[in-house]
Amino acid sequence: MKVIVIGAGISGLTTAIYARRSGWETVILEKSAAPGGLSTSWTRKGYTFEGGIHWLIGAIESIPLHSVWVETGALKENNPVYFKDPVYTLVDGDVRIPLYRDFHGLPAGCLRDRIALLSLRFHVWCFRHFHQPITDLPGLKVEHPCPFSLWEYVRMLPAVLITPFLILQSSRSYVRRFSNPQMRALLGAVVDPGINALSLIYTLSTFAAGDSGYPAGGSIRMATNMAETFTSMGGKIRYRTAATGIEKTTGGWAVRTAAELIEADAVVISADARSAIDKLFTQPLQDTWARKMRKGLETTQCMFLGLGVKTPLSNWPRSMQVVLHKPLQAAGNTYDSLVVNIYPHETGFAPEGCCTLTCLLHGRSYEYWKRAKDNGSYMQEKHAVIDAFTEALGDVIPEIMDNIVVTDMATPLTYERYCNTFEGSYMSAWPARKPLYHAPIRYEHGLYFTGQRTLYSGGLPPAAQSGRLAAQTLCKDFGTVFRDR
Ligand SMILES: Cc1cc2nc3c(=O)[nH]c(=O)nc-3n(C[C@H](O)[C@H](O)[C@H](O)COP(=O)(O)OP(=O)(O)OC[C@H]3O[C@@H](n4cnc5c(N)ncnc54)[C@H](O)[C@@H]3O)c2cc1C
Repeated sequence: MKVIVIGAGISGLTTAIYARRSGWETVILEKSAAPGGLSTSWTRKGYTFEGGIHWLIGAIESIPLHSVWVETGALKENNPVYFKDPVYTLVDGDVRIPLYRDFHGLPAGCLRDRIALLSLRFHVWCFRHFHQPITDLPGLKVEHPCPFSLWEYVRMLPAVLITPFLILQSSRSYVRRFSNPQMRALLGAVVDPGINALSLIYTLSTFAAGDSGYPAGGSIRMATNMAETFTSMGGKIRYRTAATGIEKTTGGWAVRTAAELIEADAVVISADARSAIDKLFTQPLQDTWARKMRKGLETTQCMFLGLGVKTPLSNWPRSMQVVLHKPLQAAGNTYDSLVVNIYPHETGFAPEGCCTLTCLLHGRSYEYWKRAKDNGSYMQEKHAVIDAFTEALGDVIPEIMDNIVVTDMATPLTYERYCNTFEGSYMSAWPARKPLYHAPIRYEHGLYFTGQRTLYSGGLPPAAQSGRLAAQTLCKDFGTVFRDR
């Protein structure tokens, strides 16, 4: 049996590893030159920019997802996970407020803030047993069963009960329960403020559980580990090979590339399903879910900024929410504060005594950059944003001024160009008061979707979980035994 997986991002690699281990001849077609997709890091002039993982969920053994990271080789001896505490620190002039995993020491002066903090702690407590269950599809032949446990689901009940309340509000409005602007800013650092408060509480609960860390070597080492696991089992990855179409054949399915038509028994699409439904089929898909997704999906966008500086910045917190003296205007958005990560302790990320610094600017800017591309001002606009950014940050962290060796920036157009994500989105997300739009894992016999727009919204957890599920669905449809190790 042969399967073609479109995309060597985390979901595609996960599917491919399990399929190969289950005996499938497996070929990955990847349009870029490296594995990882959105979960990537890259090096410029000796400075490595982490452009993916900030928090890896499932980094501790007690979380079932951890088994997927181990089985796929994503986490090995070469990338031990580091768990930051505090997870963020607010930097507002001389004031520094750390956000510890157990929330101790947070300022809650007035009654309103004390109540808000109490309810925040309660919401996080409700999520203390919440996680992505790793089980087997009913009726699937498996070598090592992952039994369904009712108790596992019962323990998640408190989280399920408060979920309707959390999905009705954005993270931005949730943090407005605090009157203290510094508390609002600090909690606002955790997730994209536009997405629902469930994501905020869930992320905080993973911190409280001691999970969510940063694997040494970052995104590229983790993705390379997975790619090596796959190729060491005889799997093939064809880089710089974009799928341009999918066709049904008499014997199964085939994928068209610029050079050839590759036949297989099955195809798994791990590329962004929102793009795939319009671009990979002879006719855009018209199934009800596809039409709803086309009409209703709101993409999550960001601009990524990276600086390589000739100073170690060792007196600054590793992850900080920096309150700006003067708001930053960038691509039609206004920012009063910046979430900044620095990597002074990451071996090999920068020359001795130097450091890389990264920042994500959340907010929609795809149309802005598309217009700039169309009218020829794209590069000029990018430089303007980099200059405004360094100036704003330099007001707060003066050491960076005169020490910048290299700058880097990605816009939604960058993500679109490298990963084919729709409107250059960098992650699937669930906005407040909106339905979740997702593609089915099984489209029909022999054709499957996986990745960030299947299952639930989020980053690496749905990518890994859907990747495993797609491999299980494939095995079930073709009667092969699913092997996970
Ligand atoms: C800046 C940033 C920070 C993030 N931080 C976190 C974090 O802290 N924690 C977290 O959990 N998640 C985070 N994420 C999100 C996470 O990286 C993504 O959700 C996840 O990697 C998506 O994986 P995927 O396999 O579903 O999709 P993708 O990564 O998009 O993979 C799809 C792959 O398919 C390839 N492809 C597309 N079209 C074709 C085609 N036609 N032919 C061949 N190949 C094709 C693409 O090149 C890509 O490699 C972050 C992402 C970014 C960009």
